[in-house]
Amino acid sequence: MEIVLKNLAESLILLKLDECVEKLGCCKCEKCRMDIASYALNRIPPKYVATYEGEVYSKLDTLSLQYETDLLNALYHAARVVAQNPRHEEL
Ligand SMILES: [Zn+2]
Repeated sequence: MEIVLKNLAESLILLKLDECVEKLGCCKCEKCRMDIASYALNRIPPKYVATYEGEVYSKLDTLSLQYETDLLNALYHAARVVAQNPRHEEL
């Protein structure tokens, strides 16, 4: 198996993204979803690990509760910002 560099913040954001979009009733198009993810990821410190592909999700358990809380706050904040300024008309 190949060892890869993974940003656990990115994995967790993508994991929680749909739930967040659903809860806030945001636009579900790919552009808005990726805008939300990138906005949030630019505002929290990354958490890189060297891991085997496929074992990323088990590594998510190693994140602290505080980090996870900060990440979710950043995600929900990002979703509100993007919902107010959607860019899905732009290319
Ligand atoms: Zn959209």
